[in-house]
Amino acid sequence: MKYIFVTGGVVSSLGKGLTSAALGALLEQRGLKVRLQKFDPYLNVDPGTMSPFQHGEVYVLNDGAETDLDLGHYERFTSGELSRLNNLTSGKVYETVLQKERRGDYLGATVQVIPHVTNEIKQRIYEGAGDDVDVLITELGGTIGDIEGLPFLEAMRQFNLEVGRDNVLFLHCTLLPYLKAAGELKTKPSQQSVAKLREIGIQPDILVCRTEHPMTNDMRQKLSLFCNVPVKAVIEEMDVETSIYELPLALKAENIDDLVIDHLGLDAPDSDMKVWHDVVRRLKAPSHKVEIGVVGKYIELQDAYKSVYESIIHAGISNDASVRIVRLDAEDLEKNPAKYLATLDGILIPGGFGDRGTEGKIAAAKFARENGIPYFGLCLGMQIAVIEFARNVAGLEDANSTEFNPETKHPVIDIMEDQKDLKTKGGNMRLGACPCKLSKDSFSIHAYGQEMVEERHRHRFEFNNVYRDQLKQAGLRIAGTNPERDLVEIIEIPDHPWFVAVQFHPEFKSKPNAAHPLFANFIAAALKYKK
Ligand code: GLN
Repeated sequence: MKYIFVTGGVVSSLGKGLTSAALGALLEQRGLKVRLQKFDPYLNVDPGTMSPFQHGEVYVLNDGAETDLDLGHYERFTSGELSRLNNLTSGKVYETVLQKERRGDYLGATVQVIPHVTNEIKQRIYEGAGDDVDVLITELGGTIGDIEGLPFLEAMRQFNLEVGRDNVLFLHCTLLPYLKAAGELKTKPSQQSVAKLREIGIQPDILVCRTEHPMTNDMRQKLSLFCNVPVKAVIEEMDVETSIYELPLALKAENIDDLVIDHLGLDAPDSDMKVWHDVVRRLKAPSHKVEIGVVGKYIELQDAYKSVYESIIHAGISNDASVRIVRLDAEDLEKNPAKYLATLDGILIPGGFGDRGTEGKIAAAKFARENGIPYFGLCLGMQIAVIEFARNVAGLEDANSTEFNPETKHPVIDIMEDQKDLKTKGGNMRLGACPCKLSKDSFSIHAYGQEMVEERHRHRFEFNNVYRDQLKQAGLRIAGTNPERDLVEIIEIPDHPWFVAVQFHPEFKSKPNAAHPLFANFIAAALKYKK
């Protein structure tokens, strides 16, 4: 077993997560079994309760863990399936330590950061890998110099001592700021960040330098000298041109995979990176073009719908099309949806919580239904479609979700009876992978090409089965159900070019070289609609 620890210096938002994921992709291409893991120094036990404004998207795993969005990058770039063991926060560490303390597990000892907290962290490094893995890549969130990150760095230092220097590699991501006035890249912040790491007892083996301008040889020499890293281990990571999926190839050009493999004494044949060349080639020279509107309430945030945007890009790749994503604020289009939607080739409504913007989303679903524009609803986007259909087709005036109006006459979306007594927050959230049986002759079974599928969930409210027959009679198709609890998972409108809305989150299972079938079919329908 080999271990790579990824840290970041100088500033946050350096793209450490992407660098880690891209390195994972490179090693996987060389035949190694890779697993990735994220440590987050904040005190929330997990990001499940954090606002998208704070933290971007909450990424959900098969086992129902609510995790950092970097785990989304990990799963998109590599094939290893992640579990709740692959994301650890300080909050979780302290929760575990304090539970043990209350149980008396420490047998009267004074409980301290070293060794009790650091032991807990080290334990998670061992567990994060699982049995069948060659390399575990652990990324530490935050920036070197943050007080919160110290116990994690200390645990990594100890871990290195425990398993031996040949089995561990420290990779430090840093920024080379460009000073316009001086016309040069500056290395000082990187020197200082590495000095801070060395103070803690960690000597980086590889320095990944984020930069907007190419580095000269002199700069590499200088960084090597001051940071105590061999010249060939000073890696340039320029901003990629078109897409994040170019990153594995860009890092390969700097031979980062050879460095890692040599350092860790691994035996792995070189790779031609065909999969990634294919992805990038198709991304860069698409034959077609479509415009997809995403109607949400966190539209101004880059990261709130991360996996949705990525899945749309994947579907573009698989359809040989470039997709322009038009981000629309639901509140803006309440009054005059046509103004914003008429020129689009497809409309997507992603997940969400709370009632801000719901009437605008309902207007968007109505516009898509009435004008035959391909519609794809995800989680809340399905609930919106059901409300719209109930109100405007089935004649159930005032139909709503009890999330938005607890007093509605027609609660077509509601918390299920067997869940109503679970009041605690998150207690009644349906989380993680659940099976779904697709019905014959649906858009969905056509897309998946199989009858049983498994998709990830994160929601409290459900399609209310009391209204099932009534809505079916009005023309709604129930295209997928959960076989165990008979919950509605997919609705479709049959006499429409492509109208599919799902209670789950397919965006958590799409990859650049294997687009999710529903996203792929949605974009195909949009291309057809355009013609
Ligand atoms: N707010 C809705 C629910 O809780 C939808 C959640 C979501 O879109 N993830 O059921």
